[in-house]
Amino acid sequence: MAELERHSFDVLVIGAGGAGLRAAIEAREHGMRTAVLCKSLFGKAHTVMAEGGIAAAMGNVNSNDNWQVHFRDTMRGGKFLNNWRMAELHAKEAPDRVWELETYGALFDRTADGRVSQRNFGGHEYPRLAHVGDRTGLELIRSLQQKIVSLQQEDHAETGDYEAKLKVFQEFTVSDLLIEDGRVAGAFGYWRESGRFVLFTAPSVILATGGIGKSFKVTSNSWEYTGDGHALALRAGASLINMEFIQFHPTGMVWPPSVKGILVTESVRGDGGVLRNSEGKRFMFDYIPEVFKEKYADSEAEGDRWYTDADNNRRPPELLPRDEVARAINSEVKAGRGTEHGGVFLDVSTRLPAEEITRRLPSMHHQFKELADVDITAQPMEVGPTCHYVMGGVEVDPDTGASSVPGLFAAGEVSGGMHGSNRLGGNSLSDLLVFGRRAGAGASDYAAALSVRPVPSEASIAEAERVALAPFSGDGGENPYTLHMELQQTMNDLVGIIRKAEEIERALERLEGLKVRARTLTVEGHRQFNPGWHLALDLRNMLVVSECVAKAALLRTESRGGHTRDDYPAMDSDWRRKLLVCTASGPSEVDVVEKPQIPIREDLLDLFDRGELEKYLTGDELGS
Ligand code: FAD
Repeated sequence: MAELERHSFDVLVIGAGGAGLRAAIEAREHGMRTAVLCKSLFGKAHTVMAEGGIAAAMGNVNSNDNWQVHFRDTMRGGKFLNNWRMAELHAKEAPDRVWELETYGALFDRTADGRVSQRNFGGHEYPRLAHVGDRTGLELIRSLQQKIVSLQQEDHAETGDYEAKLKVFQEFTVSDLLIEDGRVAGAFGYWRESGRFVLFTAPSVILATGGIGKSFKVTSNSWEYTGDGHALALRAGASLINMEFIQFHPTGMVWPPSVKGILVTESVRGDGGVLRNSEGKRFMFDYIPEVFKEKYADSEAEGDRWYTDADNNRRPPELLPRDEVARAINSEVKAGRGTEHGGVFLDVSTRLPAEEITRRLPSMHHQFKELADVDITAQPMEVGPTCHYVMGGVEVDPDTGASSVPGLFAAGEVSGGMHGSNRLGGNSLSDLLVFGRRAGAGASDYAAALSVRPVPSEASIAEAERVALAPFSGDGGENPYTLHMELQQTMNDLVGIIRKAEEIERALERLEGLKVRARTLTVEGHRQFNPGWHLALDLRNMLVVSECVAKAALLRTESRGGHTRDDYPAMDSDWRRKLLVCTASGPSEVDVVEKPQIPIREDLLDLFDRGELEKYLTGDELGS
């Protein structure tokens, strides 16, 4: 066997999306030798697909906005299950992170008087999303990469080596973390092209691997979202929280079948687009839940006036948080008022002039023209819910991103807590920057303080290698593509947007069956670029993460945010006080247990009206 390629760093960042890049910049600025490892090409992370914008209470378009309003909106959106400290840090620090991006070279769209422009989005009281047309993620990644290059140029000037302190390993997949005496010692993985193995030794690892959407059949997520970071954390001994909460974005494409699930940005609604059923009715007015009644318009006339006079009118219900809109669309389709292809109509063509639509929503215009032959400046789009984002993830310390495993940190979509039971649009990009920076600092401080660094044992390296090679010694058993399809169908049908006990139980039975079959996964050929082998390894992660989702979904007997139980349709204040925590209880088994939520700090509670809190908190929490 060829000799194992070995590298040693102070901080390893797994993932090159917004969270990973911001973390890497911070670690390098703390003087750490830092490596960024990513599964796809550098610059192709999921973040690049983000369209609508980044939420930050800069108050540029409405001066009433401030961190307290953003905090309130985030907590309401998450139905008060959020980690309030994360929501507080996020609301306070997001504006600085946007400004900082401009110092890295980003150029956001501007208001007429030259300030960073901000647009409306669901659940945000004021226009709050800084944006670059509908290609915000691209600008975010571009400017973070630009910053990385400038740091590498500084390092070159000092040492003669561009990669002396910050090195990127692209098209490289981490398959296991290496833990010694309960502490992080490094990571093991393979080059996607050659299949050759590599060992990274490092005392600090930051997971920034994004989400889990590829376990669902209809999803806006790309091939990389196989829950690797979630599973790596579990296997390393860390805990995951809030895994029952999956965001089904209300508007994915529904037609043609080859593009089903691709995202239709919320900016379409933020910029005036309305939802209608097959009878032409603007149905969202029938779906405003009690807790939001005071904040949303109860007539089309008031909703329409809000676009030009937000101070004296309430916002239209198309801009309710995503979970509400997704459930409403689902109900309309189920009631037989859907479109021919099982969606509803989203129309911006009758709301804005054509040139305004192509200016504000260029990607959407292009996407529908190319993929569905629909001209959105003249025709409505057909849309329906699509699996979009996982609120659940690694349980972390809000200030440092540290998990319960010494040396293991997490930031971005792979971490849990910040968004509670439902994320507001735009709050992910800001989350990546706020907590990416914090995790970079946390991981650096941890590495700097260690007197002795753990070293991966040869036994753990050999075990990681054995597991990675196992699919080549399968004996004609299971095909990874078949298993993946069955997993996606199971999660979509039985643990999807509307859930009930008997269906989740059936899903768990099927997952058990899939896990047994996964032991005989068999791949053909060699390790050189072999997508079947890559999928076989990804499936190990998808199965364990799906089990977390299903087990937590079965236990939570209420409906809240991205978890809707047909058999328990109401929100229950007692459940607001509980988190469900997943841990690994074997190589591919998970346990889910309840844990009390930390009570919200008094001064943060004081930001809300007591009447509103009564809708979410129990009497004893309110001291009544
Ligand atoms: P990512 O950007 O997904 O990066 C993950 C990285 O981890 C990648 O580099 C990947 O290669 C790497 N990786 C994964 N597994 C491994 C492994 N095993 N080994 C090595 N590397 C690995 N949010 C907003 O706030 N505003 C928006 O407008 C918005 N629009 C969106 C539009 C779309 C179509 C989608 C899908 C999402 C959108 N979101 C939006 C959500 C947001 O984009 C994501 O939540 C966010 O980008 C996640 O960033 P991240 O840094 O956590 O992960």
